[in-house]
Amino acid sequence: MLRCVYFDLDGTMVGRGGSLLHDEHGNVSLLGARALEAAHRAGVEVVPVSGRRRDTVREPGRAMGATAYAFECGGGLVVDGEDYWQTGDLFPENGQNVHEQITSRGVIELLTHHFDGMIELHTPWHVGREVSVLFRGEIDTLVAQQLLNDHGSSDLRIVDNGFIGGLPTGGTGFQGGRGESTLDPSIESPRSYHLTPEGTSKAAAVDRHRRIRGYELDEVISVGDSAEDVGMAAASGVFWLVGGAEEKDGAVGPAMLEHDNIRVAEGGPGEAVYEAIVTTLMAGNET
Ligand SMILES: [Mg+2]
Repeated sequence: MLRCVYFDLDGTMVGRGGSLLHDEHGNVSLLGARALEAAHRAGVEVVPVSGRRRDTVREPGRAMGATAYAFECGGGLVVDGEDYWQTGDLFPENGQNVHEQITSRGVIELLTHHFDGMIELHTPWHVGREVSVLFRGEIDTLVAQQLLNDHGSSDLRIVDNGFIGGLPTGGTGFQGGRGESTLDPSIESPRSYHLTPEGTSKAAAVDRHRRIRGYELDEVISVGDSAEDVGMAAASGVFWLVGGAEEKDGAVGPAMLEHDNIRVAEGGPGEAVYEAIVTTLMAGNET
């Protein structure tokens, strides 16, 4: 029996400009909202698991009827108002949150100097963070990881969270906010990268939440569109990939090879979540 669905926000539950009521092209679509309706009517818990910072997951989460949510790539998890950290050996202490502890090492400068013009802080969403340092650009993450390892930060990992959610113009009038970007113009579609403690992952947050709630592995599903999202397959009965994600993002295919419980949805953002929930509920009713 399905008891919980974990889903990414940008490119998975919400469409263009971060809108719940538009698809990826900016067309009005109610399928994301109907996915939530179907879940709530069936008593299935809904949990957003996003790379966004706390407040920008908490508020849409509240509007979706969620009582738990994970932010900053799973580094932070809130369940019924209580914080849980998936941050390895780093924890908020001495008045410093994990984000401050990471940045004080000089790793922003390390990466931006090495990958000159190919990576920068993901303004204006890089502020107010508690765990991960958020970048945008286009880099070889293996090279970045080696660089971190060589400079005493092997306890950190660089996470590829897929293409950035802020498309040039959104259905809600949202502007991409890349006006101040100093990225090399050769980068047509920048990706978002999180620099986080090694123990941080969306899968870790899903696993933590599932155990707190006492759900069995086969009672939960997850939905996402990035390589990091695919990792949630390890903590779910079935992982549903948003339709077209593998074709759009070359990092997704290799990530999928590590799992054998992935289904690919036909629909894009919003629709894919609807498909995942309704298909699972219907299968449950047949048995
Ligand atoms: Mg996404």
